Amino acid sequence: VKVVVTQVPVPVAYGPAFEGERVRGEGVYLECGGGRTSMVEWVTSKPIDEVIDGFVEVIGPEITDVPAGSRLPLAIVIEVAGRQMQEDYEPILERQIHHLINYAQGVMHLGQRDIAWLRVSKAAVEKGFRLAHIGKLLHAKLHQDFGRIFDKVQVKIYTNKDDVSAVAAKAREIYAARDARIEGMTDETTDTFYSCLLCQSFAPSHVCVISPERTGLCGSYNWMDCKASFDIAPTGPNQPVPKGQTIDARLGQWKGVNEYVFKASRGKIDHYNFYSIISDPMTACGCMECISSILPMCNGVMTVNREFNDMTPCGMKFTTLAGTIGGGVTTPGFVGHSKYNITQRKYLAAEGGIKRLVWMPRSLKEEIAELFNERAEEIGIPDLLDRIADETVGTTEEEILPFLTAKNHPALSLEPLI
Ligand code: SF4
Ligand code: ZN
Repeated sequence: VKVVVTQVPVPVAYGPAFEGERVRGEGVYLECGGGRTSMVEWVTSKPIDEVIDGFVEVIGPEITDVPAGSRLPLAIVIEVAGRQMQEDYEPILERQIHHLINYAQGVMHLGQRDIAWLRVSKAAVEKGFRLAHIGKLLHAKLHQDFGRIFDKVQVKIYTNKDDVSAVAAKAREIYAARDARIEGMTDETTDTFYSCLLCQSFAPSHVCVISPERTGLCGSYNWMDCKASFDIAPTGPNQPVPKGQTIDARLGQWKGVNEYVFKASRGKIDHYNFYSIISDPMTACGCMECISSILPMCNGVMTVNREFNDMTPCGMKFTTLAGTIGGGVTTPGFVGHSKYNITQRKYLAAEGGIKRLVWMPRSLKEEIAELFNERAEEIGIPDLLDRIADETVGTTEEEILPFLTAKNHPALSLEPLI
């Protein structure tokens, strides 16, 4: 056993005990992301001579440069180098940012990729916590937990709008390339899925099981990432899950998965379906990029992404929806999923897939348009995206139904949803 003792060089208490802690209202000194400003996190590999181990740089205003109650854009760029380092490992290191920052007392972190959200409390700032400490703690902890796969790590923290936009643009290209690595794989021809238990500290009964055609609901982990994570850490949070006997191919339920979920949820959940929103859909923690909900009057479903703060036709905003379905329980009629999953062929396949989709925010439509249109072409409805309502059409079922009828939306002629 390799024993590594690392001091985490931060002026606040640090450890898993602080992971679930919230920073709210008057207590907030600095807020980044969460729909208020842009925030992005990105791990990238570099040639060894371009990385100075432990180097941390804050480019733009530090906490001490802004008054309490401020908001700043934020990009956290982690550059790693080493002989064992592979591009495949980047998403795994990147997903650690969430809990590693949360371990600091008085610092709250939610989300991932370009939808992250950070709050630093006044109490933490009083104790001397600065943005630079984010870099220092990431350096220390990543070495401690993943030092086997890289030699050097440096962290750049940007807080100027233009820098953050530039990092986000670059990172989004990489996110898309990572997502695309599982293109062409199918659940039918894959015998082993992978679990993800990273979120059990927040939602103890929640177990993500990730198949090629259903990426993790946070959007950070796909099947390939889980496989790489298992290679790095064979006893870690991503374990192979043999699919076993198929219980229901249409709903996406397998004996091996059920058995794993039952064990990993400590007996709380004994089964769930990968492809359905109606029949025992997959459980959710709090990290989902999107939430789908049924719209009974429209015989369809809607989906909303985390960045969309306004009302939706199901009568709830994203935050309310997240509060309703998060916490590791199955909630028929609602399901959490990644943005990418909307364009995967098994998305709500049991209910008709994207043919059921009658509403989503305009910005989400734009973001996924390219891949969505490919799928729409495949199912013979190339203009499907234009037939889907968004907030400019309406934000209630009553408002969007006439639009769907006028557009002859395919959901209206599918079998009744409920
Ligand atoms: Fe893993 Fe699921 Fe949490 Fe993403 S949401 S980190 S896939 S457990
Ligand atoms: Zn989660």
